[in-house]
Amino acid sequence: MKEIEDILGTDKVRYNEPMSRHTSFKVGGPAEIFALVDSVSKLQEIIELCKNKNIPITIVGNGSNLLVSDDGIKGLVIKYIANDISINETEVVCSGGVINSILANKLLENCLSGFEFAAGIPGTVAGAVYMNAGAFDGEMKNIVTYVKYVDIDTNEIKIIHNNEIKFSYRESIFKNLNAVIFEIGMKFNKDEKENIETKMKAYKEKRMQTQPLEYPSAGSTFKRGKDFISAKLIDECGLKGYKIGGAQVSTKHAGFIVNVGNANAKDILDLIEYVQKVVYEKFEKNLETEVRIIR
Ligand SMILES: Cc1cc2nc3c(=O)[nH]c(=O)nc-3n(C[C@H](O)[C@H](O)[C@H](O)COP(=O)(O)OP(=O)(O)OC[C@H]3O[C@@H](n4cnc5c(N)ncnc54)[C@H](O)[C@@H]3O)c2cc1C
Repeated sequence: MKEIEDILGTDKVRYNEPMSRHTSFKVGGPAEIFALVDSVSKLQEIIELCKNKNIPITIVGNGSNLLVSDDGIKGLVIKYIANDISINETEVVCSGGVINSILANKLLENCLSGFEFAAGIPGTVAGAVYMNAGAFDGEMKNIVTYVKYVDIDTNEIKIIHNNEIKFSYRESIFKNLNAVIFEIGMKFNKDEKENIETKMKAYKEKRMQTQPLEYPSAGSTFKRGKDFISAKLIDECGLKGYKIGGAQVSTKHAGFIVNVGNANAKDILDLIEYVQKVVYEKFEKNLETEVRIIR
């Protein structure tokens, strides 16, 4: 679309772009328009344009928690890619498009501790805020001080502080807002570089031992239940290795559904439903997906 290209430049706009190129599951049909946006002012211009033309907007980060249907996504998909990081003593401000591992290494260089848990979470900092991503001893809730976002409904810039974000297990207020997160403020603690590095290495090793990182996935497919561990129930149903098309319940970690070869989104969705059904029949427990499904 000419107007979007005028705002962003032709190299930042693609048409009928396969979402399989932008998701860690490596599945998903085409986005009608896919745009890489690298500043807040351009973001607001694009939002204005879409509102005037009634074009629906979908926001993605690094696609590491997304299952996009084979039909793809109508309208405009925005990936916010600004990736600045600024550090002032123990206070850090970064753009939403910063990749977690890059921030983790930058914090390591600056002897700042508190983000080690996220170094191996393969998404953006904005995606991590949205999901209240967490692992081992940490979650975003513990380090975020504020978040700036563009409210898509009003096209205004807003700021929200930690106590208003309603962080809980894999939840934040952003699931109920129509927003593009573009800046995150965080606070860390000073520590010895060696301590931080040791922690990061240990977490990486643990991931390599326990997770099927050799296959495309979106991490844990299901959330933990209030009184049960989803992966344990799936394992106890004998579902490890169960396959539909190219989608399989990982033989290494029952909580992961992996793409073992040319799966499409339907294979994965069918397998999710099958696992939910079998677990319900045996344990009367409902497995809720952690993965965000875009149909
Ligand atoms: C191998 C593997 C291991 C994983 N391990 C973990 C783990 O240990 N802990 C964990 O919590 N997760 C884990 N995940 C899941 C995933 O990495 C996290 O949920 C991550 O935070 C998602 O970030 P993303 O940038 O990829 O977001 P996406 O997957 O692209 O999007 C996730 C959600 O965030 C929204 N979003 C993204 N960017 C923005 C933005 N700028 N503004 C507004 N909304 C936005 C999207 O609309 C979507 O609803 C893992 C995934 C994989 C593949």
